[in-house]
Amino acid sequence: MSDCPTTYLDHGATTPLRPEVADAMAAARALPLGNPTGSHRPAQRARRLLEEARDEVAASMGRQPGEIVFTSGGTESANLAVFGALGAGCRAPRSASLLSSAVEHPAVRESCRAAAQSASVTWHELPVDGSGLVDLHALEAAVDGATALVAVMLANNETGVLQPLDRVVETVRRASDTAVVFTDAVQAASFLDLAESAAGADLVALSAHKLGGPVGVGVLAVRAGVALAPRQHGGGQERERRSGTQDVVGAVGLATALHLAAAERVEVAQRVAALRDRLAGGLVASIAGACRTVPPGVATLPGHLHLCLPGVEREELLVALDAHGICASGGSSCASGALEASHVLAAMGVPDRLARGSIRFTMGRDTTAADIDRALAVVPPVVASLRHDP
Ligand code: PLP
Repeated sequence: MSDCPTTYLDHGATTPLRPEVADAMAAARALPLGNPTGSHRPAQRARRLLEEARDEVAASMGRQPGEIVFTSGGTESANLAVFGALGAGCRAPRSASLLSSAVEHPAVRESCRAAAQSASVTWHELPVDGSGLVDLHALEAAVDGATALVAVMLANNETGVLQPLDRVVETVRRASDTAVVFTDAVQAASFLDLAESAAGADLVALSAHKLGGPVGVGVLAVRAGVALAPRQHGGGQERERRSGTQDVVGAVGLATALHLAAAERVEVAQRVAALRDRLAGGLVASIAGACRTVPPGVATLPGHLHLCLPGVEREELLVALDAHGICASGGSSCASGALEASHVLAAMGVPDRLARGSIRFTMGRDTTAADIDRALAVVPPVVASLRHDP
């Protein structure tokens, strides 16, 4: 098995570093770079590279450079958003509430859960419908003057479902002058134009390794005028919002990856969606009982395919597929790699019997027709061999 070709259909977990990004980072790394806060020439060079990267990221996101805070990735950006908005609001002598959709990534959910350990903070999860779309009536009923932050992701990491962010923003603005809207755009950033699709959000998170950039660098865009308490304290970098010496080479990688993604977005989305649809059609036709978890007609990211395969256990399926060189995902795994029951599928009301046999294939810009052919040839017989009740 070890010499099986690898068919990588797990771009939702991480994407290969693009060669152009690696080249840009290598060129930056080859320069004598100082600490961007310093005053000598290597420091000035580092500062120039950092600010050019910031300009590029801001332009790609439709924001001003001063609104871009570099972080270590999506998880840190989500923590900064939740605790930052809350910390800023908590300066007022009153209790504060957090609202988040029931399908947020653990980076957001667990930040909210941790924040709600404080007696003055409450956290409420907003229900979603059977497609995973947030319930806007529940949102409307829940937002009030105590709401510090509303977190609704742009695209779900498990299902790829796109949330109606514009309507979320409208609903929040109608009910509150002070609630901050945060969107986790980590999955969406490689396929959607954030300048448009995340325009209404006050806080937007993204992560370089989901779009062909390096692991360990991300962004939180903070709309000008939105108060954000820092999460880490120190030298006051990133306009006092995130202390710590910046990863200049990482920022160059992120900016390059975003720039490249923007230039080819439409073509890549069309090509990847066609590959995804062929995989979906082929697997549903050839595996008895297989169904797409997200109903047809619901907008999703082009590269996501989430399937329920009754009669198989997803952990066994992933191991068996890996043995045949197919890399997929169960959608939600904890740090140990073990699969957890999916809170996303539970919130959508997917019966446990189906959720147990669910699998996520995620395609990216470098997925080929040959990858899909191979998956179509390998997955059905593997599923058949694992079925407990064929
Ligand atoms: N948010 C979403 C939707 C994600 O998919 C991920 C990563 O899987 C994260 C946040 C965390 O990002 P990072 O891996 O950069 O910490």
